[in-house]
Amino acid sequence: MQSETEQILFDQQMMAYALKLADKAEALGEIPVGAVLVDEAGNILAEGWNLSIVTSDPTAHAEILALRRGGQKLSNYRLLNTTLYVTLEPCTMCAGAILHSRIKRLVFGAPDYKTGAVGSRFHFFEDYKMNHQVEISGGVLQQECSEKLSRFFQKRRMQQKQQRAQQNQQTATNKEE
Ligand SMILES: [Zn+2]
Repeated sequence: MQSETEQILFDQQMMAYALKLADKAEALGEIPVGAVLVDEAGNILAEGWNLSIVTSDPTAHAEILALRRGGQKLSNYRLLNTTLYVTLEPCTMCAGAILHSRIKRLVFGAPDYKTGAVGSRFHFFEDYKMNHQVEISGGVLQQECSEKLSRFFQKRRMQQKQQRAQQNQQTATNKEE
């Protein structure tokens, strides 16, 4: 049995790892979200990072990919006694998948006030009372997780602004010609 301090340290360690996976998404132009599935002994079973744009798949969120790979690894659609770490609060789709997967515990980093289904926008696990209850911890490495996302969106806005400026310039040059 792990002590509470050991558990907190382990949670932070796994979240830091999920943040590294989020970088893989960002390198591909995806929203930087990463997820890690861990078994009871603390072994990593599966990893996931956002791939919706690259794979033209609206369901390719980090959590879904980690759950899917976890099921394959365990040869079981029920991921009993596992913990899912994800850098951003899951959306309703992922919350549904988490429920169906029967994971034991969900740990997330940053809250998502727009689409978060674990208390920020929707209260999926409270509304959906079932025999199986998922233990939930939010706000692990919250600052790091939030900052990664806000930096990404800031950069993207800048790039879009630059693109628009370039387009406007081109239109202006074309008119002159
Ligand atoms: Zn999702």
